[in-house]
Amino acid sequence: MPDFRPARDQMVDLIASRGVGDDRTLAAMRAVPREMFLPSHMQDVAHEDAPLSIGEGQTISQPTIVAMMIEAAGIGPQASVLEVGAGSGYAVAVLSRIARKVYGIERHRSLGEAAAERLARLGYTNAEIRVGDGSKGWPEAAPFDAIIVSAAAAKVPEGIRRQLIIGGRLIVPVDESIAGQALQRITRRGDDDFDVETLAKVQFVPLIGEG
Ligand code: SAM
Repeated sequence: MPDFRPARDQMVDLIASRGVGDDRTLAAMRAVPREMFLPSHMQDVAHEDAPLSIGEGQTISQPTIVAMMIEAAGIGPQASVLEVGAGSGYAVAVLSRIARKVYGIERHRSLGEAAAERLARLGYTNAEIRVGDGSKGWPEAAPFDAIIVSAAAAKVPEGIRRQLIIGGRLIVPVDESIAGQALQRITRRGDDDFDVETLAKVQFVPLIGEG
């Protein structure tokens, strides 16, 4: 098995040079073996700053975007975090090194089951993956300090916003059709009071679900 650490360090240095400054996010990405979240024939390109195919027409997100989203969510060591669109489980693994507990939901059974098996094998014991429609969140595990949606929503799913604690942050790409997708940070200020900030233009696969 080749040593991927130099490639991983280079990837993280590039992410830092692109403006991500949060030390805990960068340290977590330096530690998680991204190559283990890809099919074996793709391990050589695992640390390129690009989205890569993981099957079922889905992708593992671009590392810089993963880092930006995690940094924007402002996650502390005691946080409980939900990721909707867990895909390969890579972002869940990174989050599990930053937060106390991480929940991931994936709608494709084959991807979700592979991600759960991989996370268990790699020893990420504070992470849990469920197969299902994450557009309605994970009500039994709510409320969350932070929620990251890793697929583009046509509009912000109402049920998900309501699974944030007061002060919690939702990071979600919202499809604005002609204008493309906007990465939003939604902060819950009160029961019905949500602040919305647009952070960047992004490109994600669609969120498909009832919520
Ligand atoms: N974060 C993932 C990783 O680290 O590999 C990559 C996420 S990929 C860009 C988006 C994922 O969202 C896809 O795997 C897709 O199947 C999933 N997805 C789309 N709609 C969903 C939904 N309603 N509930 C759960 N997962 C969903």
